[in-house]
Amino acid sequence: MWRLLRPDSVSIWKNEEVRKRLSHYRAILLGKRPPKYRVVKKMYVDFNVDDSLKELLKIHRKASEEFKGLYRDIVNDVMSLEELDEGDKSFLDLKTLLLKKIIKECMLCEWRCGVNREKGERGVCGLNSTVRVASAFLHLGEEAPLVPSGTIFFTGCSFKCVFCQNWDISTRPENGVAVSPRELAEIATRLYLEGARNINYVGGNPDQQLHIIVESLKYMDVNVPLLWNSNMYMSIESLAILVDLVDIWLPDFKYGNNECALKLSKIPRYFEVVSRNHRIACRNGDMIIRHLVLPGHIECCTKPILKWIAEHCPQTLVNIMEQYRPEHLVLRYPHKYPSIARRVHGDELQEAYRYADQLGICWRPVS
Ligand code: SF4
Repeated sequence: MWRLLRPDSVSIWKNEEVRKRLSHYRAILLGKRPPKYRVVKKMYVDFNVDDSLKELLKIHRKASEEFKGLYRDIVNDVMSLEELDEGDKSFLDLKTLLLKKIIKECMLCEWRCGVNREKGERGVCGLNSTVRVASAFLHLGEEAPLVPSGTIFFTGCSFKCVFCQNWDISTRPENGVAVSPRELAEIATRLYLEGARNINYVGGNPDQQLHIIVESLKYMDVNVPLLWNSNMYMSIESLAILVDLVDIWLPDFKYGNNECALKLSKIPRYFEVVSRNHRIACRNGDMIIRHLVLPGHIECCTKPILKWIAEHCPQTLVNIMEQYRPEHLVLRYPHKYPSIARRVHGDELQEAYRYADQLGICWRPVS
């Protein structure tokens, strides 16, 4: 059915640039290599559950380097996944333990609230340690190489975007259904068996749910790429845990400066955090960067972002999104946000496209 509704999801692979830029993701789809998480699960790492967070992070840094070599060997057929000797403690166990400690003084994202979510405390995202799924289905509306995407929508978000299109789940963390790690793995496995090309963790935002998502991988063993669909405001510690697990990144790059981010999403230090995370992530997996063009924000946001991508992540695909419409608070109080209380004009989009072409950015196949 999805082939009829989205024929471009098949024809996209004729595009040489897409094949080259998504070569890791495609190799997993073709069964030529395992997704990273299956190797992480089988890689032995020695650690003690009573080690301090600092010590565990140190062990994790070293293990992450070892993982890169191991994964390279598997890709190059020097060894196979089956040959890996599973011990009583895995790299995945280490990541799971780290996250259990991190949420006790939460620093999953750069708000670094320091609350004990395990004891029920809540920070800026409004979430305690329970993870809730608002919906999960085969998404046919994503970028062509991703369709059908096994999309899992979580509740809660670290951003407070005044134009949020998913405000019903991002601003209401109590919506949806609470899931255990095992139940989350069952949802992901079901999506894969129904034909998902990837498991797409999104929300809201998925970074706040990292502790349960990582633990769920223990109960999953299917050959599906993991996709991280995030606002990229995760902490450097969360990012370090993610880079060994994520096969394809689908980040939002919203603002080209801190002032617009603070005004429209109530986020401090946006540009330094989000650009840092993009830079690290694009070197650790395939990536399609999404940029939603905002009305009146071509010079302050769209152009600086495109320029940054051309300089720091030139190998990525970019989706220049034109579908902005006033939503949420902008729709309710247009007088408060007059500059974005309209759709994007055609000439603004043309200027964004022209500038992307001038920079040599690869955007046409996925926009
Ligand atoms: S995930 Fe981020 S916003 Fe939520 S409590 Fe932790 S640090 Fe705060």
